[in-house]
Amino acid sequence: MSGEVRVVSHPLVQHKLTLMRRKHTSTSQFRQLLEEISMLLTYEVTRDFAITTERIETPMMEMDAPVIEGKKLVVISILRAGDGILNGVLRIVPSARIGHIGLYRDPKTLLAVEYYFKVPDDIENRDVIVVDPMLATGNSAVAAIDRVKEKNPKSIKFLCLLAAPEGVKTLHEAHPDVPIWCAAVDEKLNEKGYILPGLGDAGDRLFGTK
Ligand code: URA
Repeated sequence: MSGEVRVVSHPLVQHKLTLMRRKHTSTSQFRQLLEEISMLLTYEVTRDFAITTERIETPMMEMDAPVIEGKKLVVISILRAGDGILNGVLRIVPSARIGHIGLYRDPKTLLAVEYYFKVPDDIENRDVIVVDPMLATGNSAVAAIDRVKEKNPKSIKFLCLLAAPEGVKTLHEAHPDVPIWCAAVDEKLNEKGYILPGLGDAGDRLFGTK
């Protein structure tokens, strides 16, 4: 899996994304839609998880029943908008372990500067999904994945809502082993590093801060 970008084209995902892009969509609708769409994206991102069987007893008899193999998933949210996706992932995988990375974008250089890093200690042998709604320049995603790799996880996937071609290129160049999952790849970035046509500032729309 090298340099892969997977666009989830399911009609429900695409419809909900259009509702999220509309500028008159309210904060509460936006938050609800991001949670719903993240649940649908999680369904696809986890499709290749390995299955094993466990001996269980139904009320009728014993059987070998399928269960997901291996240790619990780790979801790492890039603050603060990543938490919007995290909530959706947790609705589908409630037992997941959680990490947070705080990065802000230097407005001049657009480079990512870290201010917070807290992830579960035992990340080795676990699958990790790094989440952030917007893959714009790619600098935050690269910085976050650089840090996560220091902890030697079994695998890493990057899950976002919207990606810009520039961000996809930057992330693929730095981390060709990390597949990108998203609902759409948009046209381009503007001079301020915002995705076009995009949906504006995901954090502000999610938390109602503007
Ligand atoms: N972050 C956002 O919230 N929106 C963009 O368009 C780009 C980065």
